[in-house]
Amino acid sequence: MTEISRLPKPLAELWEWQFEGACQDLPSEMFFHPEGERGPRRRNRENAAKAVCATCPVIQQCRDQALSIQEPYGIWGGLSEDDRTMILDRKISASISEAS
Ligand code: SF4
Repeated sequence: MTEISRLPKPLAELWEWQFEGACQDLPSEMFFHPEGERGPRRRNRENAAKAVCATCPVIQQCRDQALSIQEPYGIWGGLSEDDRTMILDRKISASISEAS
């Protein structure tokens, strides 16, 4: 008999959690900044999006996915672009320290 347990899962299974996201019916503009948005306007929009993420049942899956693919734009898993950059930079610094 053929052993299939080590084959990759169907792609849809990897993304199924997105159907449970608290942002499902919200406008994407809430999570992605328009061109040139800065300052308090940007901070307010990001905080509103993060508040939605804080109620989301799949926040951890969303965050893990965004970090693993280094998602460059938007609020994912309660993290902004700057939050993700800071976390990834820390991981790189930690792995460099461990290697030396
Ligand atoms: S964590 Fe935030 S961005 Fe991710 S699915 Fe939930 S509400 Fe949407």
